[in-house]
Amino acid sequence: MQTKIVKITDENKKEVLEKAANIIKSGGLVVFPTETVYGLGANVFDEKALAKIFSAKGRPSDNPIIVHISDEDQLKELVDTVSEQQKKLINAFWPGPLTIVFEKKKEISDIVSGGLPTIAVRMPSNPIAHELIYLAGVPIAAPSANISGRPSGTTGEHIYDELTGKVDMIIDAGFSDIGVESTVLRINNEQVLILRPGAITKEMLEKILFPLAVIFAKDRRELQFSPGTKYRHYAPKAKLEIISEKMEKRAEVLKEKKLRIGIITTKQNKDSFEKYKPNVFVLGDRNNLEEISQKLYDALRFFDTHPVDIILCESFPKEGLGVAIMDRLDRASM
Ligand code: AMP
Ligand code: MG
Repeated sequence: MQTKIVKITDENKKEVLEKAANIIKSGGLVVFPTETVYGLGANVFDEKALAKIFSAKGRPSDNPIIVHISDEDQLKELVDTVSEQQKKLINAFWPGPLTIVFEKKKEISDIVSGGLPTIAVRMPSNPIAHELIYLAGVPIAAPSANISGRPSGTTGEHIYDELTGKVDMIIDAGFSDIGVESTVLRINNEQVLILRPGAITKEMLEKILFPLAVIFAKDRRELQFSPGTKYRHYAPKAKLEIISEKMEKRAEVLKEKKLRIGIITTKQNKDSFEKYKPNVFVLGDRNNLEEISQKLYDALRFFDTHPVDIILCESFPKEGLGVAIMDRLDRASM
């Protein structure tokens, strides 16, 4: 398949998005930017196009796909009922990085839901994503744009390598703002479960849903509602170790064993790892978790082109956005 790769600018935006919308309407695949990570999109109502997403990514068929909408009318095409709690969340966080799990309409393909009776929906705030969905005139089913199991694509270069030849078009808009995937939330019988942590934090959700408590899904029974979470994810090619303290010592020990070491660190600590250059990636300021999350997958992918035997990465406090960052790092190191 010939893949059209375009860097989107203010000048070509209208033309590019019209072309992309036509590809979606005619059953093709388009990689497009969102505020979280890039998405690999297809028309949610076209089963053949949906099947192509799974083959392009090598994605297991029981891993359901998030559906992206541009306005609330499109939600009505996907679900019959929206509860009071779900309405509150929509008002507070859409458009934005929150995915809400609903009971799906019967007609929605099982390919999207991975055989579940539910559908996960999000309204992205990224204006390019919004315009594309609006012009396509249909909700767009879009998992992250990456080969299954690898870190999600957060900039054009990540995606060219993996998806050229497998999709019709790649719209490159530079780095994603947030850099980690959306928060996925399910509310059932007054129980609010975060199936996947993201930039909309537990604290932000609790403020809106008070007095309901919000909890992180952790055991297998809870995570059955989100089949994607059982797969290995976000993995770099080399082994990854997350180090909560004394990373220099750990690096020394491994160096003595003649292993090639990669370092993921922060501005605050980078001076301790001079001798491991050029295999050092500085994520940014430890106290600015937005900066850390934006560069996280770029850091993991950096070692695809800087081959090492083991990557050591600093750990972050599991608070606010730090929960999502540590969730991805923990999964990438499994
Ligand atoms: P990705 O599309 O790669 O960002 O992954 C989508 C995530 O959303 C996976 O962890 C899925 O398990 C989750 N997800 C998608 N659809 C549903 C659904 N209907 N119910 C629960 N979780 C879902
Ligand atoms: Mg993914």
